[in-house]
Amino acid sequence: MTSIDTPAAPAAPAAVRVAAATKTFRSGRGAIVQALTDIDLTVAAGEFVSLIGPSGCGKSTLLRLIADLDTPSSGEVHVFGKPARRARLDQDYGIAFQQAGLLPWRTVRANIALPLELHATNRALRQARTQELLELVGLADFADKFPDQLSGGMQQRVAIARALAEKPRLLLMDEPFGALDEMTRETMQTELARICAETGAAVVFVTHSIPEAVFLSDRVVVMSPRPGRITEILAMGLRGERTDELREESLFFERVSAVREALHGTPRSGARGVETR
Ligand code: ADP
Ligand code: MG
Repeated sequence: MTSIDTPAAPAAPAAVRVAAATKTFRSGRGAIVQALTDIDLTVAAGEFVSLIGPSGCGKSTLLRLIADLDTPSSGEVHVFGKPARRARLDQDYGIAFQQAGLLPWRTVRANIALPLELHATNRALRQARTQELLELVGLADFADKFPDQLSGGMQQRVAIARALAEKPRLLLMDEPFGALDEMTRETMQTELARICAETGAAVVFVTHSIPEAVFLSDRVVVMSPRPGRITEILAMGLRGERTDELREESLFFERVSAVREALHGTPRSGARGVETR
C-alpha cells in the first residue's frame, strides 16, 4: 500500500470546497425545482461542519454533490483539492446516510469488514480493526447476527462503523443518528467526536438537532429553503474535548440559542453567507 500521508504538502488542500454551486431538478411535466443556489462552502481538513435547516432546504442535495452522487447544475465541488468525481473514485471519504444500506446476507462483522476486504487489507489487521469497530459502536455481542435481527438504530451503528473502517480523512453523514434513541444518540455523538479528534477526519454532518450540531461542530451552516441556500455560518468556538460535561455548560446553551435564532429567524446583523467567525 502506498502512503498518502507523506510527503506533507506545505498547504493541505481543504477537505471540501464548494464554489458557486447551484442544483436545479427538473421534475415530471417540466416543473423546475431550484434545490440549491449560490452555495459557497469550504471545510478545512479536520474540521467538523454541520448542515442544519428545515426539510427541503437542500441539505441532502448538498451532501450528495460533495459525495459525487449527483452533479451540480453549475459551480464546482472539490474534495481534498480533487474534483468530486476523482475523490469518489479514490474513496477519499466514508459515507453514512439515513438508510443503513447493509448487505442482508452478511453478518454485522462481515458488513463492517467489507470496505477492508475490498481494499485487500491484510486478514489479521482486518480482523483486529473490525473488532475495534464493533466495540466502538457497542455491537461486539452482535457480531454474528444478521442485519434483520437488529433494531434500526443498531443497523445504523453498523453503517457508521463501516464508514469509519478505513479511518477516512472525510466523513459525509446524513442524519446518521436520526433513528437512535436519545441516550444512544448522545453516546454516539461523544464517540464520533472522539474518533474525529483521534483520526483528524473532517466531517460534513446533516442533522435536524440543534444540540447535536452544536455539540459536534466547529461550525454550523444554517440553510433555508426555496431556493435552498446558506443563510448563516456560525463558529461554535467550543474548543477542546467534547465530553458530556460540555452539554451542561453555559457556553453550550448560548450556542444552542444562537443556532436556534439563526434558524428561526430574527435576521441577525450580517447578510446571508457572512461568516460569523
Ligand atoms: P433536505 O435534505 O434539506 O430535506 P433535499 O436536499 O432532500 O432537502 O431536497 C431539496 C429540494 O430538492 C426539495 O424541494 C426536494 O423536493 C428537491 N429534490 C431533491 N432531490 C430531488 C430529485 N431527485 N428530483 C427532484 N427534486 C428533488
Ligand atoms: Mg435530507
